[in-house]
Amino acid sequence: MPEKSPNLLIFAVDSLRADHCSCYGYHRLTTPHIDRLAARGVRFQNHFSPYIPTTPAYTTILTGRDVMAHEMVSLTPKGPIAPDIPTLPELLREEAGYASIRVGFAGDFFRGFDKYVSYDEGWLAWPDRPARKAENLNQVALPALEELVRNGSPWLLFIRHMDPHAPYLPPPPFDSLFYGKDPTDPNLPDTMGPVRNFPPFADFHLSWMPEGIRDIAHPVAMYDGALAYMDACIAVLLNRLEELGQAEDTLIVFTADHGETLTEHDCYFDHHGLYEPTIHVPLILCQPSRLPQGKLISGITLHQDLVPSLLEYVGLEVAVKARTFDGKSVLPLLRGERATNYSEFYLTECTWMRKRGWRTAEWKLIDALEPDFHQKPPVELYNLVEDPGENVNLAEREPEVLNLLKRRMMAWVNRRIDETGKPDPILQYHLGLDKRIGSIATAKRLQER
Ligand SMILES: [Zn+2]
Repeated sequence: MPEKSPNLLIFAVDSLRADHCSCYGYHRLTTPHIDRLAARGVRFQNHFSPYIPTTPAYTTILTGRDVMAHEMVSLTPKGPIAPDIPTLPELLREEAGYASIRVGFAGDFFRGFDKYVSYDEGWLAWPDRPARKAENLNQVALPALEELVRNGSPWLLFIRHMDPHAPYLPPPPFDSLFYGKDPTDPNLPDTMGPVRNFPPFADFHLSWMPEGIRDIAHPVAMYDGALAYMDACIAVLLNRLEELGQAEDTLIVFTADHGETLTEHDCYFDHHGLYEPTIHVPLILCQPSRLPQGKLISGITLHQDLVPSLLEYVGLEVAVKARTFDGKSVLPLLRGERATNYSEFYLTECTWMRKRGWRTAEWKLIDALEPDFHQKPPVELYNLVEDPGENVNLAEREPEVLNLLKRRMMAWVNRRIDETGKPDPILQYHLGLDKRIGSIATAKRLQER
């Protein structure tokens, strides 16, 4: 018998953008314990969530299939994942006897775990703060970890933190860690106007911000404080893993379903828009007994790569070859066998806006399938090298690049329609312009299925 299969502890945080983690170069020390995972493991600098938001992203993470195959293109999909598409916990159980628990919302896009435990995700208004989301999570995640260890089989623990998801209301001292003023001070310039003046999200956002807020730097600092709070609580889980004698035998995976837009592109404090803050997410793999330490991977990797990577990692290469996955293992990048998994890839969103895109290392095309509530141009083209903030739309100035990217994107889409035998999922929807997120209660309900 080969050595015991490694356990998998997967942190798949909701709404965590890579560039606000200190290990990804952020100027604030938001994630010291996660940084330590990166220092003791492998950090992927260009990992992307290509199909946003939550439902498509977690489906991609857990199936290794792309949006054309799993068809979960919207936050509120038309049905469950097709029964003939296996999920990671199902594959691990069938092929290698893994036990599995999922911590976070229950939902059909998490099909296949042995057990589900949920916690209070802190959908609070400002007067009811703080939200102790990660402590509530630990209260159920620590017993789940202990149960899996007692069981004796190799295990998968999949954890969904909600701390970086609005409302951002971390407890003291994290609520003032990065902000020391009064954000309602009438002497401050009023930078909150655009948030107040965007009706689809204004009621929700203003409910969890201080009354009379003027300074938009405050919710950004609260987002960062929520990261630091979550990071401290993750350290408690990692310490328990050590105490249980499991650290050496466990691969820790740290990633996020999608990122978060804070003040960019008018998409305030949410995760719509195919811009970098929402699609660029962290990916760290850490198991010092089996993986290099402090290694950086600069090639492009995608969420659909995770299942084939993890199956290969636990010794199930044969199962990978016998099945269909749309992603590719990232392990050849670690071994130096190839530099990148992709030179170009497809993007979708179909929840608040209905758009698709095509991203290369240098360019991003965003193509709208219907008008959107931000009144953005129907076609956007950005040069990511010269304009990493995606502020200068070159669609009219660079028609040749635009047409080339459009052609490549539609050739890929049409090839995938042929290969899957399924319709193009994004064409099955019409969103209209009157969408509203509503109150905190309706925002929470949107997450539940
Ligand atoms: Zn999400």
